[in-house]
Amino acid sequence: MRLLVVEDEVRLAQALQRGLAAEGFEVEVAHDGLTGLSLAMEGRYDAIVLDILLPGMNGYKVCAEIRAAGNWTPILMLTAKSGEYDEAEALDTGADDFLSKPFSYVVLVARLRALVRRGAGARPVPCQVGDLRLDPAARTCDRDGVPIHLTPREVDLLEALMSRPGEVVSKQELLDRVWGPDSGVDPNVVEVYLGYLRRKIDRPFDRETLLTVRGAGYLLADA
Ligand code: CA
Repeated sequence: MRLLVVEDEVRLAQALQRGLAAEGFEVEVAHDGLTGLSLAMEGRYDAIVLDILLPGMNGYKVCAEIRAAGNWTPILMLTAKSGEYDEAEALDTGADDFLSKPFSYVVLVARLRALVRRGAGARPVPCQVGDLRLDPAARTCDRDGVPIHLTPREVDLLEALMSRPGEVVSKQELLDRVWGPDSGVDPNVVEVYLGYLRRKIDRPFDRETLLTVRGAGYLLADA
């Protein structure tokens, strides 16, 4: 299994390289964002470990660029601070998982194995509901040909609703599917993101397709 580690703290990078090699990974290291990005684009890695604070280009940007190029290699981000803000941002730029520093080496290896097992996976196929179209892999969305810019999290949420048009999807289900079953985030985050979506897919078009069904969940009207 091939890994790319992008980490500017040389001693930490070396320790990771040695430790992960001992676990059977083949590890390449980059010490700055731009080198990391070009290696990620050229190389065929099973997973990428990406620090956030990096010289040249920060980890969020590196991650977003990799995803924008249609590269779905699993990415585990190392966040310097622990806190939901960083984690949310890491996931929003297209990272698959995150780990706060300082981290347990055992946990890192377990997470990497899980990511590699899951693999880059088959990305979801384009979907259409009425005149609303979404290509989750390319992260493009439009209504009647008018492009709509969505963040990765909004794409995931919209995709979850578009996969079941006209059906009520519960808040918990959306939370599990978009944020993960063990995310521990406040369930009200679903409501917040639905508000973002409404401001993008409905309001500018004078539509009301994203509905709240009180006490039950949310529904994307299919007409
Ligand atoms: Ca760093």
